[in-house]
Amino acid sequence: MGDVGKRDEVLHSENAAMVVRGLRESFNLGKTRSFQWRKNQLEGILRMIEEREGEIMEALYSDLAKPQMESFLHEISMAKGACMVALKNLKSWMKPEKVGTLLSTYPSTSSIVPEPFGVVLIISAWNYPFLLSIEPVIGAIAAGNAVVLKPSEISPATSSLLARLLPQYTDNLCVKVVEGAVTETTALLEQKWDKIFYTGNGRVGRLVMAAAAKHLTPVVLELGGKSPVVVDSNIDLKVAMKRIAVGKWGCTSGQACIAPDYIITTKSFASKVADEMIATVQKFYGKNPLESTDLARIVNSNHFARLSKLLDDDLVSGKIVYGGQRDEKRLRIAPTLMLDVPEDSLIMRDEIFGPLLPIITVDKIQDSFDFINSRTKPLAAYLFTNDKQLEKMFVENVSAGGMCVNDTVLHMANKNLPFGGVGESGTGAYHGKFSFDAFSHKKSVLSRNFGGEIGARYPPYTPRKQKI
Ligand code: NAD
Repeated sequence: MGDVGKRDEVLHSENAAMVVRGLRESFNLGKTRSFQWRKNQLEGILRMIEEREGEIMEALYSDLAKPQMESFLHEISMAKGACMVALKNLKSWMKPEKVGTLLSTYPSTSSIVPEPFGVVLIISAWNYPFLLSIEPVIGAIAAGNAVVLKPSEISPATSSLLARLLPQYTDNLCVKVVEGAVTETTALLEQKWDKIFYTGNGRVGRLVMAAAAKHLTPVVLELGGKSPVVVDSNIDLKVAMKRIAVGKWGCTSGQACIAPDYIITTKSFASKVADEMIATVQKFYGKNPLESTDLARIVNSNHFARLSKLLDDDLVSGKIVYGGQRDEKRLRIAPTLMLDVPEDSLIMRDEIFGPLLPIITVDKIQDSFDFINSRTKPLAAYLFTNDKQLEKMFVENVSAGGMCVNDTVLHMANKNLPFGGVGESGTGAYHGKFSFDAFSHKKSVLSRNFGGEIGARYPPYTPRKQKI
């Protein structure tokens, strides 16, 4: 259990309280506020990523059989990038921002001063277990907070690696890793935090928000949802299918929060989409995808059983046009494509979070916008089209955490864009400067000297004063 005890001990509320107390003492000493402390920690994390890259890759392989290329591109280099951006910009992010002042408060100056919240809790998920832990920690440290990280127990190798490595590279009076599952997380959530940053599903998101409400603690909830891909007929079909396929199966076998969840296209174009997608998947993963080393496995038997249930649903079993093979022992499911899936099938209810991709059809492509908007707001929405008018309508009318037009998932790689959900896909955002902002309170400061007195401001409010 990271810093708190041995791995098989359970973190009880008193221990959790002790951890928070210790961190609060360190925070109150002002240690985490200085530029130098923040810089040292971020440099430590960068060094950790560089020196321990091999161990990180091994842990990710052990947890998910993540292909090395994916581990490198989607976790290691993204984490490194986040750290480098924070180091490069830290000084300017920390600077108070001068803003204009009204004539009525003249003479005065006004500024927005970012201050750390204090002691923050980060709870992360298993599908990108390294990045989803480290990137919020980078934001929390850059903003000058003391931090507890609780990685996911569903990815135990990465969780224990983080618990072992972070204390070697950061100040462990101010940065702690607590490992554990529901009991431990519940004990942590009973404490008073100054901010909670949670990544995971909406059911637990609600528990986190309820626990936070008790202390009026602000939260960031990075949740999921069914991210649709609208495919118009006016496109480069080959390129489009490659970009959808890599965003789906090239992202932990579809176990990614912004992986395409379903394709929505017109009845007349659907079979062309399916044929090209099948050709693409065959090119990417060969004739026997269960043997492909370029596909991550399903994380555990619970998720394997959940996905199997979706495949076995009577409403979709006849709709599978490609794939469907599974190997329970090795937790592998082949990329699977389903055509003309009915709206009331199980697979269209909740986020799929796995290698199954249904195609649903509409009469006109514009109908897809109503379909998406009639459901809970997704974390991501994608559109493939060459029609600028359709693109404009999509951006203006479809609500989603983020969007990518003529590609998938790439919007999350741009550090200048905030990453987060809306409605049931989450609240708050991070990445780049937005990570710093997520962990900073923006304090309004107006400062005056003793000049500029206006008598009318003060009682008694005589008739003469009221005339002004
Ligand atoms: P998970 O099972 O790892 O759970 C997330 C965290 O919640 C873990 O640390 C776990 O210990 C904790 N937890 C689980 N049950 C709890 C409980 N009862 N009380 C308190 N804490 C509890 O991950 P998951 O939820 O399976 O993750 C998948 C979901 O997360 C998907 O919906 C996915 O879309 C979403 N997700 C979102 C993002 C994002 O950035 N928006 C990223 C990754 C995953």
